[in-house]
Amino acid sequence: MHDPRLPPIVQTAFLRSLGLIPRNESFPGGMIFFIGENSFRAGESALRGKAVVLGPPPPAMLPGLGIRKDRGLPLLEGSDACAPAQGERPYTESPAFLAYAEHELAAGVSSSLRRRPFTRFDYSDEWNNLGFGRVRADGSIWAAHGGFVTEGAAQLAGIFTRTPAGDQYCGAYLTLFDSPEASLLWCSRPVGPLDSTEWTVIERFVCDWRAEDMPCLPCLRQIPAPCRCLVTMRLDCDEDVASARDLFEWYRKEGIPFSLAVKSSLELGASDLALLEAARAAGGTLLSHSHAHQPDWGATPEEAQKDAQTSRNRFAGLWPSFPPPDLAVSPFHTNPPYAVQAMARAGFTGFVSGIIHNDPEYLLGRAGTVPFAGGRMVSISQQSMLHGDCRRRQGEGMEVHIAAFEAQYVARGIFGYLDHPFSERYQYDWESRQQRLQAHQRLVAAMRRYQGVWFWSQQQCFDFVRARAAVRLRVTPGGRVAVLAVPERRDIAYRYKGQEYALSEVEPG
Ligand SMILES: [Zn+2]
Repeated sequence: MHDPRLPPIVQTAFLRSLGLIPRNESFPGGMIFFIGENSFRAGESALRGKAVVLGPPPPAMLPGLGIRKDRGLPLLEGSDACAPAQGERPYTESPAFLAYAEHELAAGVSSSLRRRPFTRFDYSDEWNNLGFGRVRADGSIWAAHGGFVTEGAAQLAGIFTRTPAGDQYCGAYLTLFDSPEASLLWCSRPVGPLDSTEWTVIERFVCDWRAEDMPCLPCLRQIPAPCRCLVTMRLDCDEDVASARDLFEWYRKEGIPFSLAVKSSLELGASDLALLEAARAAGGTLLSHSHAHQPDWGATPEEAQKDAQTSRNRFAGLWPSFPPPDLAVSPFHTNPPYAVQAMARAGFTGFVSGIIHNDPEYLLGRAGTVPFAGGRMVSISQQSMLHGDCRRRQGEGMEVHIAAFEAQYVARGIFGYLDHPFSERYQYDWESRQQRLQAHQRLVAAMRRYQGVWFWSQQQCFDFVRARAAVRLRVTPGGRVAVLAVPERRDIAYRYKGQEYALSEVEPG
C-alpha cells in the first residue's frame, strides 16, 4: 500500500491538535510520528523514546512495539460492509467493530464510541448521526488491519466481528507499549483514529503520557477556555426559507444564534429575506450552500469555482452593505479536494465538512486546517442531522443526537447539528412543523443539563477555529512551551503535561 495522500492527511490531524507537526517518517504500510528529540535510534532493533506508529508494521518492527502477527485470527475482508438504513430498522451497522478497554488514555472517548462499528448509517448509506467516519477493511489507508496480537503491549482497543456464533476477536487496533526506554502507541489503521473524537487517545498520549520521564508536546484546547463544549446549529436551505420561521422564533427566544446555509439560486421572496435578515440581526450566520446545488459544486474545477463565485456574488447583490459569506456548506456534503480548492479560490475560508458517505479526508474528529487546499481553509465536521425519517425509525427519541453531543462534550470539542426548512415539495419526512420544533426543543433541553455548554453561531465557531489554526507552538530545548505568533484572542488555551494554560500567558519565541 503506497498512497501519497497519507502523509498530508495525518499531518493535518496532528496539526489540528498540536499546532505543530511532529517529526515523521513513512514506512511501507504507514507512518511514525516522533515525540521529542531522541525518539528513535536508527540501526537498533528496538524503538526507543516516545512515538506514535500508524499502520501495519513490517516484521522487524513488531517486537519493539510489543506485538506479533497471529495468522490464526479470522480475516476482516468484507466485514466493514453495511446495509443502508431504511424501512423499519433504526440504524444499520457493519459486522466489524472496535471495542475500547478502560484506560486513562481513552478518557476522552465517550460511551457511544467505546464499542463502535467500522460503519454505521442512520439514514440510507449517507449519514451517521453519531458523527464518526468509516473504518474500512479493504487494505487502504482508511482500513484497520487485523491479525496482530499483543506480546508485551497493552491493548487499548481490539477489533471484533459479530457472527451468528458470537463476537470473534480479529486482532489489536490500538496498543501501548511501555518500557524504561520506550513509550509507543500503535494503531493498526494507517490514518489512525482521526475521524472521530477517538483521536483524543493520540492527544493524551502525546501531551500527558509519562510526563516525568518521556518527552511531551503541548495540545491546543479545541474550544475557548473555560467552555466544555461548543454547540452550533444550522439549517441547510434547499427549500422555502420562510417555512423555518417558527423554529427561528423559538431559538431567538432562547437566545441561541440561528445559522442558515442558503442555496443562492433559490427564489427568495419578501418573507424569506425577512427571516434571513432577522436571523443575522439576532447573531446568526448566513452561509452559502452553493449556488446551483450541483454534486461537488460542479463537474470540473472551473465549474466548481464559477458556482462558488456566483453564490458569493448573489449574496453581495442582495446585501451590498455586508461582506459576502466566507463560510459554506457543500451541496450534498460533497467535498472532493478540487471542490475545496475551488471554494478557496472563490474566497471562502471555511466550510462545514463531514459525512460518512464520501470524502473521508475531510471528516476529521477535530476542527482546523484542511489537507490539499493551501494554508488558509479550515473546516469543522458536523454530521448530526435531525430528520423526520430517522426520528420515526429511532422511536421518536433524541438519544442518538444526545450521544453525538456527548462525544464532543467528553472530548471538549464542537458539536454541530443541522436540519432543513420545508416546502410543498419536500418536508424531510417531518410530519409537521410542530414535530420538528419539539425535536429541537428536546435536544437543546438535554444539552443544557450539562455544565459549561456554550451555543455559538457558525461564524463565531469558525472565527475561533481560524484563530486557533494560526497558532504555532514549539517546545524549547529547556522544555518550555513557546508560541511563534501570539494570537489576539485571549480565550485560546493549551494543555501540557496534564495542566491547562492560557496562550496569552506564554512568552513568544
Ligand atoms: Zn442541500
